[in-house]
Amino acid sequence: MRVALGGYLVASNSFATQRIELERFQRAMLRGEAVLKMARGGGALGGFAQSLPAGSEVVPLPFVFPGLAGKISDDAHAWTRQEFLTTLRQAGKIDGVFLQLHGTAATERLEDCEGDLLTALRAAVDDDTPIIASLDGHANVTPQMVARASMLIGVKTNPHYDFADTGELAARVMTGMLDRSLAPATAWAQPAMAPALQKLYIAPGWPMEHIIRLARNRQARDRRILDISPLCGFFVSERKETGISIVVTTDREPNLAREVAEEIKQAAWERRHAFHTDMVAVSEAVAEAIATDEGPVVLGDLADSGGAGTPGDGTAILAELLKQDARGAVIGNITDPAAVREAINAGVGQSVTLTIGGKVDKFHGDPVPISGRVRTIHDGVFTASIAVRRLWSIAVAPRSS
Ligand SMILES: [Zn+2]
Repeated sequence: MRVALGGYLVASNSFATQRIELERFQRAMLRGEAVLKMARGGGALGGFAQSLPAGSEVVPLPFVFPGLAGKISDDAHAWTRQEFLTTLRQAGKIDGVFLQLHGTAATERLEDCEGDLLTALRAAVDDDTPIIASLDGHANVTPQMVARASMLIGVKTNPHYDFADTGELAARVMTGMLDRSLAPATAWAQPAMAPALQKLYIAPGWPMEHIIRLARNRQARDRRILDISPLCGFFVSERKETGISIVVTTDREPNLAREVAEEIKQAAWERRHAFHTDMVAVSEAVAEAIATDEGPVVLGDLADSGGAGTPGDGTAILAELLKQDARGAVIGNITDPAAVREAINAGVGQSVTLTIGGKVDKFHGDPVPISGRVRTIHDGVFTASIAVRRLWSIAVAPRSS
């Protein structure tokens, strides 16, 4: 069996002002041996390639991860789609396609880039050629994606570390489709809920974990169910279908798939109040942190999560810490290349007066004036915790040597 594999991983925050331009796609795109190297590693591609029957041939499609920011420029998406099509055509006869997708990519004109890519690939292969896609847990799944893919498989962890499992299942189903022992039938349902990202952790006691557990138990009761993927959605990426979705795939049982998707959707809807988020004003949060005897207290500015595509230069908490004269406070990081340049120009041990943060857009506070001493200049290379490394190993492609 001869199968093509690749990836299109883009998180588009519709509210972020920094667009992801063509040049970033061109710089980030991996091809050929670099993609094959990923297939020999972990992650979705590795899980897929290493679960194929012995003797299978893997053909590399592009793999692109240009990062997390705002919308994609139209020409960047069009160029990427064309790269996929050209590579697929040059690959000659293939038996199946496996893609790793994020599920939130949007341009100014096109709100469902993954649906568009799947449609283009579907048109380029025979109707019965398997196209299976792995999805990030934050995917906003659309009917177009469901219709064009033979099967969509979401991760079931958040933070996500089970990408390899999605690939493994994809390989099993694709092999079954090709020897005609399996025929996936997929259904999709949505409970009309788009919860905030901070309510979507999958850990004991969190509402999404309850839904995942329910899905697992339901699947365990019926061998005809190949997969139930409850997806969290990405509420800052706007498309009509933004929010939680339930994707169910059965073997040859479209009615059962619909029934189970409805059942899990209903269970999610009944839990909707558990997803409610109580917001606290920054002034209140800082005052409470200062007043508390226990510590440390961590304040997260979730409106400026770089992991959700915002600039990461929010100053709301810093400004409030200064205003309330907080002592012993530490700021995680504020992205500000101009301030970094000023500090580097001054040199270690020197005093500087500059403004930091709040420079990219108008949503995350104003630049804050600070004075201080440059303590260190760092190359930015650091050792992450194991959990973070696992998370990023799926997304950051290894460079070919
Ligand atoms: Zn995610």
